[in-house]
Amino acid sequence: MKILVANLGSTSLKWRLFDFPNGQERMLHKGGFFGLLDYPKAIGDCLAQLKEAGHIERDSDLAAVGFKTIMARGVNGCVRLDEDVLKAMEAFNGIAPAHNPPYINGIRLFAQRMPSVPLVGLFETAFYQWVPAAATRYAVPEAWYDLGVRRWGFHGASHKFMAERSAELLGREDVAERARRLYVDGGTTPVRKPDLRVISCHLGGSSSITGIRNGVAVGTSMGLSPQSGLPHHNRVGDLDSFALPFLMRATGITLDEAERLMCQESGLKALSGGFNDVRDIMEQGTKGNARAQLAFEVFVHQARHWVGSFFAQMNGVDELVFTAGIGENQPAIRRAVCRDLDTLGI
Ligand code: ADP
Repeated sequence: MKILVANLGSTSLKWRLFDFPNGQERMLHKGGFFGLLDYPKAIGDCLAQLKEAGHIERDSDLAAVGFKTIMARGVNGCVRLDEDVLKAMEAFNGIAPAHNPPYINGIRLFAQRMPSVPLVGLFETAFYQWVPAAATRYAVPEAWYDLGVRRWGFHGASHKFMAERSAELLGREDVAERARRLYVDGGTTPVRKPDLRVISCHLGGSSSITGIRNGVAVGTSMGLSPQSGLPHHNRVGDLDSFALPFLMRATGITLDEAERLMCQESGLKALSGGFNDVRDIMEQGTKGNARAQLAFEVFVHQARHWVGSFFAQMNGVDELVFTAGIGENQPAIRRAVCRDLDTLGI
């Protein structure tokens, strides 16, 4: 059973092809195209590579194509991507303007190209379906909540993997199994005492921190949209909602322009004066660039804010886990997030 998993960005198409001999996952192929893409051509070229490598003879040899879809109104979990689901995703384009449109476009192109192959999406919000209401509700009019204005949470695939893997590394196979089966049984797989409390820090171009008790999320730093929480490369992170009406009235900018600035010209890029890659920010910081140093400090401060939040929610932490481009590769950031946390046992 060969399954192609496609990661669709506005300027990239990345993929991996998996096979499952004897129920074991095996990756057969991976690749990607970057830059401003002719998407139909990129999809065709991806499939051509799989054929040239001898993994498939025709498109219909794929059992399914999987997508790490972001969010949709009234749809969550792991679902077949039909036109109804794509319309539900479109209804939330305004919340995820950088993420939903490229997925919708790409999925429609896959559907046109291979109408007989099932297309399946696992929504990034799926991992947060069991977060208590106290941690998901904003204090807004009920009618806004009914429209979808609540904390959703994202990076679900990454944090769920962290829930599984970190439990395995601590020898808690019971918790790893609960996390693995979460979308099958809603987190009811029995686990032993004591609770395993994990704080998972996904720090990358886009960052979020999630508290996980016994394999199930208790809350996360991202709220309504993937623009919220920690500052991202060029997306804003948390911002008091009154900033927007204040700025629009004070400067006369339109809503569209404000949205563009928050999605493309904010975050670490705005703080540091133009550098969004943390490697550049660190290098500039060591050269004495004060704005780059400030960007670093704001990022670390926000990360510590969320670590502290989940420490309180879970009455402690057994594992603090780092992942994604920054989390994996930037020891200086890990060190700064962990400094002076001996009270937490770190
Ligand atoms: P995305 O959210 O776009 O998938 P990544 O998880 O790849 O982003 O994270 C990108 C960030 O990770 C960048 O700020 C970059 O500086 C940092 N990063 C990625 N790889 C490395 C590396 N090998 N060494 C240091 N930093 C890295």
